[in-house]
Amino acid sequence: MKCAGDIEVRAVEEESINIDPIQAGGRLTAAAMKALIAYGDGYSVCDNCRKPNRLDYIKKPPIDRFHRELAEFVGMDVARVVPGARRGFQAVADTYVEKGDPVLVTALSHYTEILAIEARGGIPMEIPASPGNIITPDAAAAKIEEVIAKTGRTPPLLFLDHVDYSYGNLHPVREIAKTAHGYDIPVLLNGAYTVGIMPVDGKDLGVDFVVGSGHKSMAAPAPSGVLAVRNERAGEVFRTTAARTDVTSRTFGIKEVEMMGCTLMGATLVGMMASFPEVRERVLRWDSELANTALVVDALKRIGGTAILSQYPRRHTLTRVDTSQSFDRVAEKHKKKGFFFTSALKDRGITGIIPGATRVWKFNCYGLSRAQAEYVAESFIAIARENGLPVS
Ligand SMILES: *Cc1c(COP(=O)(O)O)cnc(C)c1O
Repeated sequence: MKCAGDIEVRAVEEESINIDPIQAGGRLTAAAMKALIAYGDGYSVCDNCRKPNRLDYIKKPPIDRFHRELAEFVGMDVARVVPGARRGFQAVADTYVEKGDPVLVTALSHYTEILAIEARGGIPMEIPASPGNIITPDAAAAKIEEVIAKTGRTPPLLFLDHVDYSYGNLHPVREIAKTAHGYDIPVLLNGAYTVGIMPVDGKDLGVDFVVGSGHKSMAAPAPSGVLAVRNERAGEVFRTTAARTDVTSRTFGIKEVEMMGCTLMGATLVGMMASFPEVRERVLRWDSELANTALVVDALKRIGGTAILSQYPRRHTLTRVDTSQSFDRVAEKHKKKGFFFTSALKDRGITGIIPGATRVWKFNCYGLSRAQAEYVAESFIAIARENGLPVS
């Protein structure tokens, strides 16, 4: 079926159980789908934009209130919507990073943080991961000392992933932020994998900036996200234009430089707003999400030769698995080679794992019902048994 011209209808979520690592938390709510249609037109949120003409002042639809609620939701003072978490990193990097500055990231940082630093001419410096792929406050302190000793400069920022994209591990943010603050280094919490799926309180964690991804974890259309800051930082990151043009002497009111005036102007923003009531509720059910993940992870562990590479017991739904001593052994002899595994999952209506992966792969059970999680767990076991792997 086509939705227009030669564009296929996408029915992945309708037809299968999708455990794609990056898609689980961004799946739209029914409310967001309706908002997409109602606010699909270009500058559709601008119908009722009045002076001072800025997105976060619009009352109809209630975008102003949404901004206040967003800030509160992540335990910070001031929030703005941004086109993706990456644009949140960029706004903060643009504000604080000067050419040649060393900027702290970690060995598990997302590439978009590195690019935000690179765009400013900054030099990304990684805090190495400790055994178990956790970033520790001791490693952070050692790296800060090393960077200051080597460059003679104090890094203007530390980017820290709350839960990293690679292992889905939860890092000790509070302790690392405390360490960084001991050197007057502000901390940006990358909540791309946490804001909107588990409770996040930026002030409680002691961070200066919180960034979230709408399409990764807030059931919102892409590209969307949030950048929230403390009052002390708002005047810096959300500074307003001071420009006056030379020929026409024009000025531009209270447009914020890093936001390029306004950011999300239609379906992205209203979709995010439409999902928000459900998102706010769902973070409170995080324990049952973890219980579903535990069920699937424990099933995988029963398959001889399978190793969970992520922190265990799981504290997040994104999980990295090594099946090179189990499913990959089967692949060596199977007529479908490495594709036997994802093909067997597909036969059972489960999708989202990289086709052909049998060694190291990731999955994310976020948002599955208990029955779906049980079904996924049973499917892994059944595929193992059918292919002669030992199951304990
Ligand atoms: C997905 C992801 C991002 C990028 O988020 P966007 O909203 O697509 O810009 C950043 N950091 C981490 C850890 C991610 O997993």
